[in-house]
Amino acid sequence: MLFYCEKSYSSQKKSMASGVLFRDVVLDSAKKTDLSKALTSVGLGEMNVDGDRRSMLRIRALACKKFGYPREGSWYNLGKSFWSKLRPDSGEGNSHIIRASLEPISHDIHNFPTYRHNPPRTPTGFDESICETPTSYIEVDPVVCPIVWVMGVGQANWNEVRAGNRRIMYDLGVDDGWSDQVVRRHIDAMLLAPFDDQVIILSHWDTDHYSALFHFTQQELATFRFLVAPWPVPPTLTAQRVFSSIRNSGLPYRLLDPAPQTGRRIGLHLQSRSANTDIFRAGPGVSRNQTGIVLVFKWRDRLALLCGDHHYNKLLDDVLQAHYPNHEVGLVVPHHGGRAGVIDEMSWSTRQVACALSYGLGNLHGHPSQPVLSSLRRAGITPRHTRGTTHLMLDMGRTHIDFIASIP
Ligand SMILES: [Zn+2]
Repeated sequence: MLFYCEKSYSSQKKSMASGVLFRDVVLDSAKKTDLSKALTSVGLGEMNVDGDRRSMLRIRALACKKFGYPREGSWYNLGKSFWSKLRPDSGEGNSHIIRASLEPISHDIHNFPTYRHNPPRTPTGFDESICETPTSYIEVDPVVCPIVWVMGVGQANWNEVRAGNRRIMYDLGVDDGWSDQVVRRHIDAMLLAPFDDQVIILSHWDTDHYSALFHFTQQELATFRFLVAPWPVPPTLTAQRVFSSIRNSGLPYRLLDPAPQTGRRIGLHLQSRSANTDIFRAGPGVSRNQTGIVLVFKWRDRLALLCGDHHYNKLLDDVLQAHYPNHEVGLVVPHHGGRAGVIDEMSWSTRQVACALSYGLGNLHGHPSQPVLSSLRRAGITPRHTRGTTHLMLDMGRTHIDFIASIP
C-alpha cells in the first residue's frame, strides 16, 4: 500500500530512549483501494463508505529512529503489518479533510527510509496545462488603492489582493481541524462580494495552502478567470479530487514549470512581469516548501510579498534586493512563523517591512517559533498575528505601512 507523507512533525510525546523520537504524521494515498485496505487493517472497515471523499490519515506519536522518520513529500510502501499495529484514537472530531486519527498499539520503532518507494504514476491528463502562462494577472487602476488580506483560517494560509472589483486569491488553505460546515461558511463569506475579475494562484501543493478548494463547487470555480499552480501536482487522492473538480469546472489552469536549475542552490527566478504583478518560480527540488510560486504585487513604491513557505534568504536576496531595492514591503511571514531558513537580521533591518503571521492557536507544529519571532524583532519587524481567526488587512495607500485587524 503506497502512502504519501503530507505532514511530519515532532510529537508532544517525549522519548526516554536515545536514538528514538516520536512523530505525528499525516498520510495520504494515491489509490482508493490502498486507503480501503489500510482502513480495514486498523479496524475501520465500516469507514469504507463511498461518498466520503476524505483520504488523509493522521497517526499520532509514531516511534521512529532518530533519522528514520517520514519526510514530507516522500512516498512509502506501508504493508498490512504496519497498519495492523495501529488503532483509531479518540480524535479527529469531524475534520473536513482528515478521515481518521490513529495511534500505535505496539512498541515498534520505525525506520522509514526502508519503506521508501518511487512516486506512483501521475494519472493521465493530470499534468497538462489547459491555458497559456498568463502574461497579465490583475492590472489595477492606478487610483484604486489595493488592500492585501491575510485571512484568519487557523493553521493554514489564505491571502488576497483586492483592488476595486478585481482580486487575486493566493493560497486557499483552511485549518485541518475545521468541519465541513465551518469551511463552507468561510467560503460563502469570501465569495459573497462579486468581483468582475478574479484569479487563483497556489504557492505549492501542501493541503494547508489549498484545502478549501476541496469544497469549492464547480460553479464557484467557474467564476475565476484562471488558476496558476506549480508543476508537478502530487498524485494523492486529495490533490486528484481537487484537480478533477478544477478540470470538470472548465476553469482554465496553468501548471508552471520549475525555473531552470542554476548551480546547486534552489533560487527564486522572476518568471513573468506585468504592471502590478510579478511572478517568481523556484528551481527544481524535492522540498515543496521551497519550490513553489511567489507573488509580488506592486503599487507605487510599495509591494506585497506573498510567499507561501519559501525561505527568508531567498525572498531577501533573489526577490527584494535583486528586484525591488527601495520598495516598502508588506510581507506575509513564510511558513506560518515556523523555521524557514536563515534570517539575515542586518539586511532585513535596512528594509521597511510590515508583516502578518498566519497560524492557528495551539497548533501542533509550535508555530510561530520563538527564535523566529526574536529574530524578526531584532530586525526591527513587528508581525501582526491572525491567531486563528483574526483577518488582517494592509491598506497599500495608507501613510504608514502596517497590517491591522479587520473584516473583509
Ligand atoms: Zn504551510
